[in-house]
Amino acid sequence: MTKYNYSKRVPEKGSDVVGAILAAAADPEVISFAGGLPAPELFPVKEMEAAVDKVFEAHGREVMQYGAAKGVTALRQTILQHVAEKEDVHAELDNVLVTTGSEQVIDLVGKAFINPGDTVLIEEPTYLCALDVFKTYGANFVSVPMDEDGMRMDALEETLKAHPEAKLLYTVPNFQNPTGRTLAKERRQQLVELAEKYDFLVLEDNPYGEIRFAGQHVPSVKSFDHYGRVFYMGTFSKTLAPGFRLGWVVAPKEVVDLLTVLKQSADLHSDNLSQYAVAQFFEDNDVDAHVAEISKLYGHRKELMVKGIHKYFPAGVKSTDPEGGMFLWVEVPGVDDTVALFKQCLKHNVAFVPGDPFYAGKPQPGAFRLNYSNMQDDQIDVGLQRLGQALQQAVK
Ligand code: PMP
Repeated sequence: MTKYNYSKRVPEKGSDVVGAILAAAADPEVISFAGGLPAPELFPVKEMEAAVDKVFEAHGREVMQYGAAKGVTALRQTILQHVAEKEDVHAELDNVLVTTGSEQVIDLVGKAFINPGDTVLIEEPTYLCALDVFKTYGANFVSVPMDEDGMRMDALEETLKAHPEAKLLYTVPNFQNPTGRTLAKERRQQLVELAEKYDFLVLEDNPYGEIRFAGQHVPSVKSFDHYGRVFYMGTFSKTLAPGFRLGWVVAPKEVVDLLTVLKQSADLHSDNLSQYAVAQFFEDNDVDAHVAEISKLYGHRKELMVKGIHKYFPAGVKSTDPEGGMFLWVEVPGVDDTVALFKQCLKHNVAFVPGDPFYAGKPQPGAFRLNYSNMQDDQIDVGLQRLGQALQQAVK
């Protein structure tokens, strides 16, 4: 048998903890809050089909030909208009790069900026795939404490005094994955000022911001940036369809040009049909109404979750109450081993994602993520009842 001599950046064997969890939770008997999928019943299938037909009619040959690495101009214009309207981010066409999912932005930024040993600041817990990406580039993670209003800026400044070498800060400011927390407005402005004072870059990852079902819109971190320090990334995955694999980054032209070169070596360009079709979809449909429908449904499911948690979970269990997005975060006191708790819950035919992989450092024991976007009402109730029983036993 050949022994493959992999590169140093290849993850250790068995490190796909989440893959293993999702596989274990895939048993049809299990009610799984572990996933992170949008509700497929709200995919605008008919409208998208019409958009695809139109696109083939009008641009069949361009769709089927190689395209530009930066993306289809019509879609980049759609993105520009969208971020100006929704996020107060005002930019030019040269500032936009279309990517293969917003996941690719994390990868390209990692490739462009992170040398092995470079310090990357994160809120903890944070989006685990971002940790995985930055890890492959050799990032040294330094975490900054959060509270209910997101990353604490006083703690960030203390961290920066200890780590003036910090190069990049990664944040999910709205309805964060995994906690559902939102970074307070004044902290966003402070973050930009600290980036300027301590000379670091901010990668603002905002896949969930538009899916708000309560509270007031909070301006993007990028909207406070007068220095070109914030790179703003977005996606069509949560508002339209993740299967199209379309995301984007808005950044200074110099950076976009470099990321474009790196993207070109990764995949030449993102899928043309998806790009043309999404641009057409925006032209022909009331996208705001569509997103409002998604928000309403997720808001309803979140309410059921919060009610179920109060009804079935043992006293002392804490959970977040997000104003948008797809996830909430639970903390069970008195549990040392969350993976063991997960296995226990599987025996009750219910699953979640244990908190551990969302931490670069020492995980908080007894914490886990629950998804509600892709859960039917009856499943939520029965699932939380089962989870409540398992937790009652675990905290005894
Ligand atoms: N960032 C965060 C915080 C996410 O939760 C996700 C999706 N799980 C992504 C980025 C990547 O999404 P996509 O590549 O589909 O745009």
